[in-house]
Amino acid sequence: MPRVRSLFAGLFLCGLAASAFGPGSSAVAASVSLAANRPASRESAPSTVKIKGVAYTEARAWFARLGYKAAYDAEKKTLTLGSASGRVVLEVESREATLNGMRVFLGEPVTAYRGGVYVAGTDLDRFIGPILRPSQLAPRPLRTIVIDPGHGGTDTGTQNKAGKLDEKNFTLDVAKRLQRMLAESGWKVVLTRTDDRFVALPDRAELANKAKADLFVSIHFNSVANNPAVRGTETYVLTPRYQRSTSSQLPSPEDKVEQIGNRHDGWSAVLGAQMHRQLLGKLKTEDRGYKHARFAVLRLVDCPAVLVEAGYLSNDAEARKLNTEAYRGDIAEALAAGVQAYAAALATAR
Ligand SMILES: [Zn+2]
Repeated sequence: MPRVRSLFAGLFLCGLAASAFGPGSSAVAASVSLAANRPASRESAPSTVKIKGVAYTEARAWFARLGYKAAYDAEKKTLTLGSASGRVVLEVESREATLNGMRVFLGEPVTAYRGGVYVAGTDLDRFIGPILRPSQLAPRPLRTIVIDPGHGGTDTGTQNKAGKLDEKNFTLDVAKRLQRMLAESGWKVVLTRTDDRFVALPDRAELANKAKADLFVSIHFNSVANNPAVRGTETYVLTPRYQRSTSSQLPSPEDKVEQIGNRHDGWSAVLGAQMHRQLLGKLKTEDRGYKHARFAVLRLVDCPAVLVEAGYLSNDAEARKLNTEAYRGDIAEALAAGVQAYAAALATAR
């Protein structure tokens, strides 16, 4: 099974990124604001600057316009932005940040420049901004939800050898539980597979697009090579155009391609944040981070989409929990709560 090396040495995902490359035909362009370089103040637009070819925006002034107050810790090199509704901690020279208590991974490292702390414009416009202010996004409907149980048939997904457990069985079980919960709430729900069969990744996206999905939720479980202690939850949304995926240290030509899924970066950012928050809150697992990747299903679906890696089958204790109906029920409940929270955010944009 093809695998993708991640940021963390020895860590692997479960073979999601290795399918046919998407058509990338959308004409929608990334909207990085490039205001003139002005001094930062609460009244003026935040200053912007290009650093190594990347457009950066001064964070303190950008957040001030959303009502956030800033405090810089020179020793830790962190800028903390706080308001009544949220808290963001940025660390200079790091792509990892904290957003409302969650680990989140940005496309570019936060940067110090001429006494200010700067964040890549795409990270603000396509990720942080939508999560903090979903009411500013264009309204969209939520009628049909497509749930995608990862793997199936000959593709077992990752495995726990000791417990003889296959990822494909757990993804289908959680998907069916989630289907029941969402259908009870009145949504039309479609699964990309309802039994133990192989479905190619592009076919999953095509099924969702034909069903006119308003939301796409792909369910997976994780594994890590050579470190059985690793456990917890990861959540993924599609990498915005002109950015690197979380697992990529360097830019690649793929970064420049606009994917179908990039039409929905803003709402996907909101969806992923709600899902990650609900999973962490319900499961009380380790926060492995809210990340970006160009997995095939995320690239190719024409609606807001998220992929969750709800736990590690390579961790025996977590695998034993996943092997219980109660825990799989908890995962489904967390995902259903995430959809409800997403729906509530959608309502603010109407
Ligand atoms: Zn998987």
